[in-house]
Amino acid sequence: MSTEVNPAPGHDYSDVSLSPWWESIQDNILTLPLCQSCKRFHFYPEPFCPHCGSGELSAGKITGKGTLYSFTIVHRAPSAAFKDDVPYVLGVVKTQEGPHLMARIECDAADKLQIGLLVHFKCLKSSPHASAALYPVFVLT
Ligand SMILES: [Zn+2]
Repeated sequence: MSTEVNPAPGHDYSDVSLSPWWESIQDNILTLPLCQSCKRFHFYPEPFCPHCGSGELSAGKITGKGTLYSFTIVHRAPSAAFKDDVPYVLGVVKTQEGPHLMARIECDAADKLQIGLLVHFKCLKSSPHASAALYPVFVLT
């Protein structure tokens, strides 16, 4: 997985990185960019706050709790690295803090999943297709 941010016209993303986010994941902590001016979280990392425009941003720890906003069951591996993982659930979680995150949803019975279910963040150890030792998932609460 690339940690590079795709540049958008008119914005300087040279100082924006997902490295702090991945580093906190390795400590089993979920963080999101937090604006020091308006105290609101956002995701994806930006060089400025999308709510108020401030450039005073830091990594803020979040609860890791949220609700399942959307999901799909992936039956066809997007690359050979995922061939042993299918089928798996890929979902969008609305965090308690507001931002939506896309991640794997770990569950025993995907047919029981419903929009609105409570989920929480968890780190899983070593994925064969991730460069990091831990990677984030959400599990049912
Ligand atoms: Zn702000």
